[in-house]
Amino acid sequence: MANLDLFDRISRRIEKFRDDMVDLQMRLCAIPAIAPSSGGEGEAKKADFLIDYLKANGFVDIALIKAPDLDAPDGYRPNVLAYYRGQNSTRTVWIMTHTDVVPPGELSLWRGNPFKAWVEKGRVYGRGVEDNQQDMVASLFAVKALKAEGIVPNCDIGIAIVADEETGSRKGIDYVLQNHKVFRRQDLIIVPDAGNETGTMIEVAEKSILWLKFKTLGKQSHGSMPEKGINSFKAASFFITALNDLYKIYPSRDKLFDPPVSTFEPTKKEPNVPNVNTIPGEDVFYMDSRILPDYKVQDVEKTIRTIAASIERRFKVKIHAEVQQKAPAAPPTSAQAPVVLALRRAVKAVYAKQARAMGIGGGTVAAVFRRAGFPAACWSKLDETAHQPNEYSLIDNMVGDAKVFAHVFLQD
Ligand SMILES: [Zn+2]
Repeated sequence: MANLDLFDRISRRIEKFRDDMVDLQMRLCAIPAIAPSSGGEGEAKKADFLIDYLKANGFVDIALIKAPDLDAPDGYRPNVLAYYRGQNSTRTVWIMTHTDVVPPGELSLWRGNPFKAWVEKGRVYGRGVEDNQQDMVASLFAVKALKAEGIVPNCDIGIAIVADEETGSRKGIDYVLQNHKVFRRQDLIIVPDAGNETGTMIEVAEKSILWLKFKTLGKQSHGSMPEKGINSFKAASFFITALNDLYKIYPSRDKLFDPPVSTFEPTKKEPNVPNVNTIPGEDVFYMDSRILPDYKVQDVEKTIRTIAASIERRFKVKIHAEVQQKAPAAPPTSAQAPVVLALRRAVKAVYAKQARAMGIGGGTVAAVFRRAGFPAACWSKLDETAHQPNEYSLIDNMVGDAKVFAHVFLQD
């Protein structure tokens, strides 16, 4: 941080924007932006509102990138880019957030109208207020504060507000990356769409996801005559036990992750026979594997097939494996990447906390950047109420995160 006074000024300015930030949250919340595939109309209205807002607040070179989508009433999904120009344009610090929200779910679980945000004890409640408006609003006001103080940062600031994050990003950031050369290797890309309560998690890596459904086929018979059938449930149980060897076969540890190992867990179980005195001829269970990025998912699948084959031979059953979800991990962002170091400095200054680079077990939208070769980092301070009834954002988090972004903007 070159200039502490400067940052103090910005911090005070952001504090003064507190009520305006809550107001913007409420206005955004009132425009439900649910994906067509989730029964909504998409994000066009919300994007139009934001474009007007960006224009009125000094952002320049505002672009609307329309990803075609015949299921959306307007025929497209909107991706909005805007800049606040710095002293030179060799590098851009990007904050990317998303407009779309998930459906409210069971309305009786909400204490109010999910699309009419309300404030209670320092929190804003409503669908989308945390995911992802908290940091969308924070990023906009971080820039607004610079402008209000007449500060021109060294580098450009880019605001990317994209669609379709909740349903796969193909009409969102994925479309932007494939069709427009907007981002550059040297840019800092922050995706405030994952984090923890203390603001100490900078997400840089993820495990691969492999969900499998196993159907074990034996032969049904009377419970008193097991030798006349083949007990699929018993074979599947031996199979589950054998699958536990995956922990020994893939033992790597990586301190970035919590837990630091690959995990292979049997999870869902479908009912087999309804009565006690029948030997089940068919058994179905599922496994959720989270695999460290140094292992190839195909290798794990091959090992699983080998284990299945040995159970098939031993019990004379057939085992069908069906992929329910397979998402190979993106190449991790280095824990020493400039974006990580910048966030660590900013979190230290604003929240007085030591943030660290971490990996998580599921995917985030930052993976789309990483696959395209951009070292993006996910960071945010949040209570993780996304997708739940009575989703809320701590107003202190929204204001604090705005300061973190401003701090990053002001770093050299
Ligand atoms: Zn999100």
